[in-house]
Amino acid sequence: MACLKKGLLERLSEGVVVGDGSFILTMEKRGYATAGAWTPEACILHPDAVRQLHREFLRNGADVLQTFTFFCSDEQLAHVSDGINNKRNLTADGINAAAVDLAKEVAQEGGALVAGSVSPVSQVSFGKGKKYCQDAFRQQLTIFKDKGVDFLLGEFFNNVTEAEWAIETMVEVGVPVAFTMPLPPSGDILGVSVAECAVRMAKAGASVVGVNCIYDPAISLKSIALMKKGLEEAGLETYLMVQPLGYHTQDPGIEKYRTYAALPSWPFAMEPRALTRIDVHRFAREAYELGVRYIGGCCGFEPHHIKAIAEELAEERGRLPPSAPVGGSWKSLGLSHIKYCSKKTNWEYWENLKPTTGRELDAFTEFMPDD
Ligand SMILES: [Zn+2]
Repeated sequence: MACLKKGLLERLSEGVVVGDGSFILTMEKRGYATAGAWTPEACILHPDAVRQLHREFLRNGADVLQTFTFFCSDEQLAHVSDGINNKRNLTADGINAAAVDLAKEVAQEGGALVAGSVSPVSQVSFGKGKKYCQDAFRQQLTIFKDKGVDFLLGEFFNNVTEAEWAIETMVEVGVPVAFTMPLPPSGDILGVSVAECAVRMAKAGASVVGVNCIYDPAISLKSIALMKKGLEEAGLETYLMVQPLGYHTQDPGIEKYRTYAALPSWPFAMEPRALTRIDVHRFAREAYELGVRYIGGCCGFEPHHIKAIAEELAEERGRLPPSAPVGGSWKSLGLSHIKYCSKKTNWEYWENLKPTTGRELDAFTEFMPDD
């Protein structure tokens, strides 16, 4: 008899689930996606590249692999790629089917869950009303239904009404529904409070609710705290999840509804804002202590960041990620004969570190080679 893997809700009831990280931004940096279009043609054009990124998240501790289906509708493909995809004979259904196959193939290498990733419709389509939008969501869901995924995950919905419409169609598929919105503490794009968004997503049928993308961990966790309070006051016991940006965005004003795409440095000069692994260790601990049980990342969260989540929560999870050395990454530094490496084998060192930018005014570490 086939060994049945535990589902999302069972895993959440037993402990913490580690999500995966950035896909579209990372694929663009690696040369397999187009900035501006942000569509996942690579599932068909470069399947090895998609497979490899899934595998890196899996090796670094992800319990979930999300299908690389971001923004993949015929409407989006036609709108953003100026007809190129028509010439290539690529359709949203074809890309999405390939995306599910790739995620499933790699997930079985490590017993991971596959999440069918559902994206919002365009502003123009949203204006056409509930029925039009729900038909569009059902179209996205057909592939997930036909091929089978472990659960569905809605992401990037900045309007809670559209989120409700999507969730109503997602529950029809018959697998658990997780749903995240990109929310600053001020609420959704129309100003609906974060607490109300959480309650409405849960009441529409989502078993897991939270925030993803467009804000850094610090701002995202402020929103999560508001969600938690809202759910408690409504008497709901819905699981919380968080998948923030892998970049620092605590700039003044960013907590209003302004995405990180509004930063002058987006998308080609974001590197100086990248989270360090130490930032991610702190984030994972803080999220866990807040009661979040599904912790992953969105744009900018590279495989080593996912490793930092899995290593930080190794005790709670009862295991290190497959890529981690015995005892974890800090401890492995002790294998080095170089003193300035071996002095860094403890959290206290990293906890007190103030990382610098690497620019010309940067200072050398106090541990020099002859130390
Ligand atoms: Zn993102």
